Amino acid sequence: MKYVLISGGVVSGLGKGVTASSIGVVLKACGLRVTSIKIDPYLNIDAGTMSPFEHGEVFVLDDGGEVDLDLGNYERFLDVTLTKDNNITTGKIYQSVLEKERRGDYLGKTVQVVPHITDAIKDWVQSVAAIPVDGQEGPADVCVIELGGTVGDIESMPFIEALRQLSFSVGPDNFCLIHVSLIPVLGVVGEQKTKPTQHSVRELRALGLTPHLLACRSAEPLLQNTKDKLSQFCHVPVENILNIHDVPNIWHIPLLLRNQNAHHSILQQLNLLEKATSPALQQWTKMAETYDNITDSVRIAMVGKYVGLTDSYLSVIKALLHACVALSLRPSIDWIAASDLEDDSAKSTPQAYATAWETLKRANCVLVPGGFGDRGVKGMMLAAKYARENNVPYLGICLGMQISVIEFARSVLGLERANSVEFDAQTPNPVVIFMPEGSRTHMGSTMRLGSRRTLLQTPDCITSKLYGNSAYVDERHRHRYEVNPDVIRTLEEAGLKFVGKDETGNRMEILELPSHPYYVGVQFHPEFKSRPARPSALFLGLILAATGKLEAYVSRRQNGS
Ligand code: GLN
Repeated sequence: MKYVLISGGVVSGLGKGVTASSIGVVLKACGLRVTSIKIDPYLNIDAGTMSPFEHGEVFVLDDGGEVDLDLGNYERFLDVTLTKDNNITTGKIYQSVLEKERRGDYLGKTVQVVPHITDAIKDWVQSVAAIPVDGQEGPADVCVIELGGTVGDIESMPFIEALRQLSFSVGPDNFCLIHVSLIPVLGVVGEQKTKPTQHSVRELRALGLTPHLLACRSAEPLLQNTKDKLSQFCHVPVENILNIHDVPNIWHIPLLLRNQNAHHSILQQLNLLEKATSPALQQWTKMAETYDNITDSVRIAMVGKYVGLTDSYLSVIKALLHACVALSLRPSIDWIAASDLEDDSAKSTPQAYATAWETLKRANCVLVPGGFGDRGVKGMMLAAKYARENNVPYLGICLGMQISVIEFARSVLGLERANSVEFDAQTPNPVVIFMPEGSRTHMGSTMRLGSRRTLLQTPDCITSKLYGNSAYVDERHRHRYEVNPDVIRTLEEAGLKFVGKDETGNRMEILELPSHPYYVGVQFHPEFKSRPARPSALFLGLILAATGKLEAYVSRRQNGS
């Protein structure tokens, strides 16, 4: 196994994750099999309990792992399916070491950060790197490891030490360190400053790791003089100084790296030049360039709770992007804080209320994404109602599906107090209820997580046609509540159809309103499996409907063309 470690210096938020995934893309384009590991030095065991406000979206894997959103970037860029063990946190490492300690595995020894924590890190990295993630047999050729945080952080120290030991034990031919750093410019026509990078490389070297390549983030391309300086002071050959300057869209980054021969430097370091081919990136180039030249756009109203930080819905945004690009459109996403649509806001913040409604009415389609807690749910229901009554294409994801069921029960069935027990435990009409897969009395881990099968109930529905008439789909879940099986008949008689159910027939997975051009709710999160060249069927359906092209598309597909 060959390892490419990506570390970061100077500041966080440099796009280390995108850099690491892009390096993976270039290596994959050279004919190599690539896997990846993300290390998050925080103490949380996983991202499951972390607020999307603070940390961005919680990404969900097939195996139910709730992980850092960077794993989403890896899955999308490398088209792989990762496991929860591909995301290492300090919490996970300590948990495994402490479990061993309690079992008595350390035979009375003092358990210490060095060597026990560092050994656990090395073992974890090596065993996870060997798991195939691309559907083929046997381990990949290269494992890209992204170390979160910035070099010098106290909490990343045990990881740096473990990776230093790893580099030593696997030998120079099998280890390549790429340090991502920032080259700021002071003043308007100021100089490109190399000092922060010099300092962070010095810090890294003091810890026993010397970078083989530098990936320097900057607004404008680096000047030769800047590169020369970096080379001299950071102990990195000038041809190994890569520059990631601002680009029109992130799909350009693998191309930028290829144009600077990053693959050559990496392959040389890893002694893989003979095995690898020259990078085939035709599809990427096409995708990146096509997107730059798209002029038409489609307006999507995103009605949610966490609209302040767009990373909270990163995969939804990416899935919209994939669907739009496939249709030569640019997504124009209008964020609406759901609570701004509510009656209360008309009084307390009239301007925000007016803007929110104006935005909603101007949109070509409406999307209500997943979420937890009751903040803004009234506003989401108003958005769902508006879309339903005005034939505006609607996609409700997870919470968004539950919202459409509650709204339908209230408006159409006249059950004014219909609700989810998540928002009103005493509701007389619980249309969304708690349905744990395991024991009802067991505390914790009550979330339904990961890939589950949905059986399509009839070929005669939009969803089935969009999914290519397949009998079932496997999509990822992350929820606790579900549509109450006792109300299905009543809802269906009133016109809301449940066209996708789980294998028991008790759990509602997909709803549609056949009288509407596109009104779809799904209990799962289709955004997690959307890929740049393979957009999610349901996002594609939403955008097709928003631009009046759904019927033509469906009939073309039905005719096999
Ligand atoms: N809060 C809802 C539930 O737990 C929806 C979850 C979600 O949207 N991911 O069922």
